[in-house]
Amino acid sequence: MSTLPEPKSWISAIHAYVPGKSKGADGKPLIKLSANENPLGTSAAALEARGHAAAPSLYPDPDSKDLRGALGALHGIDPSLIVMGTGSDEILHIAAQAYAGPGDEIVYVRYGFSVYDIAARRCGAVPVVAPDADYGTDVDALLLLVSDKTRVVFVANPNNPTGSFLPGGELARLHAALPGNVLLVIDQAYAEYVAPQDEDGALALAAAHGNVLVTRTFSKIYGLAGERIGWGTGAAPLIDTLNRIRGPFNLSNSAQAMALAAVADQSFVEASRLHNQTERARFVEQIAALSNHGIRPLPSQANFVLILFEGHLSAETVYHGLMDHGYITRWLPGQGLPDALRITIGTQSQMDEIAAAIRAMATQ
Ligand code: PMP
Repeated sequence: MSTLPEPKSWISAIHAYVPGKSKGADGKPLIKLSANENPLGTSAAALEARGHAAAPSLYPDPDSKDLRGALGALHGIDPSLIVMGTGSDEILHIAAQAYAGPGDEIVYVRYGFSVYDIAARRCGAVPVVAPDADYGTDVDALLLLVSDKTRVVFVANPNNPTGSFLPGGELARLHAALPGNVLLVIDQAYAEYVAPQDEDGALALAAAHGNVLVTRTFSKIYGLAGERIGWGTGAAPLIDTLNRIRGPFNLSNSAQAMALAAVADQSFVEASRLHNQTERARFVEQIAALSNHGIRPLPSQANFVLILFEGHLSAETVYHGLMDHGYITRWLPGQGLPDALRITIGTQSQMDEIAAAIRAMATQ
């Protein structure tokens, strides 16, 4: 008998989440374009609201009622069909935990968000990873892996770290082919960055069917990553289930106050979306011009771009080279992408400096 507490074998098999770094190896602070945060910061109204939040000595509203009301009004959703989470991470974890366990399978695409693997293993389920289609989500490949053991399918749209996007028709086709007892989680952490005319219809799917959960976050376009605010919506039995196991006071007083003000300030959201659209297009154009060096930016609908280095210049060299210029980006060998760098869209001057540095490394 062991003399120490033994973690469950499926917990020991988890590789802990690796967050985007903000410092170089020497501890020097770097400009952080490794975690898909908002370069415009946070809405001034949300910052102001932080000062008026309820006293920290008091527990927050356990049901985040005002915030769910505001989100419901913004998105045309009955607030009782919204569950809040400490970041959308909490919702992803409790969705897996509520619907899958030892012996069950959870399916998602290779080069997907690394938390899906942790969420699956954390509840003892078996992660089943589908091949991609040139780094994008392949609906047929996902469907081929769905079996009578499948309980949950995770799809991020847009996807992280690839930036790829499944059009509404493909998402609907995926849903239509899934058995009704399989929960389809559509992770829309980056949805607000998608061009409005390309909207994928995920919220409508969640409103119409009993097996679709959509998750959203305040960490990206709302610029509130540090406050840890996410939410999910789906049919009443799904939301009721998740409410039973979420943290009882999972959104702090300041998180609720800031998110409420941020929802009311849609002009900040729109400015962030337009900034991202403009700078992403300019950056992609500059990087695509290096195609004769085997450098290829993948098309992105998110606030980052994944660049493939398939020629003489390696992603690792560029990762370290950009660090010498004062920038930390995301090199992803641990996610099976040793030839790729994910770069968050920052300010105009940051993106120009990065593009120039990559060009210089490629042509020297
Ligand atoms: N989903 C995706 C696809 C993400 O990239 C992230 C953040 N990296 C999250 C969910 C979780 O974000 P948060 O917990 O901050 O809401």
